[in-house]
Amino acid sequence: MNEEHEVPRVGGAVYPAGPQVTRREFEDAKKLAPVDSKGQLLCWDFMCYAGCRLSPPECAQRNQRVHEMPNLKSIPPVLKLVFNRLGGLRTKNSRPL
Ligand SMILES: [Zn+2]
Repeated sequence: MNEEHEVPRVGGAVYPAGPQVTRREFEDAKKLAPVDSKGQLLCWDFMCYAGCRLSPPECAQRNQRVHEMPNLKSIPPVLKLVFNRLGGLRTKNSRPL
């Protein structure tokens, strides 16, 4: 796994933004990360303003991630930290960071 975690920085890409998360923060976030009904991790890029460059089948195949919006009542701070690096969670009332 590369140092940038999940999101390789492409030329001129805005995200990930802000201070890099540590491996520990990343692992903690992963443990708390939302999953689909089958227990598969949801795609963080897709959920956030960063957006995922892959189509849903590609993302499932390459990253084993599902393109689905999570149903979160509250977001643990460490997840928020990781999501904020990706522009923040896309919700009706949010704006990209
Ligand atoms: Zn994806």
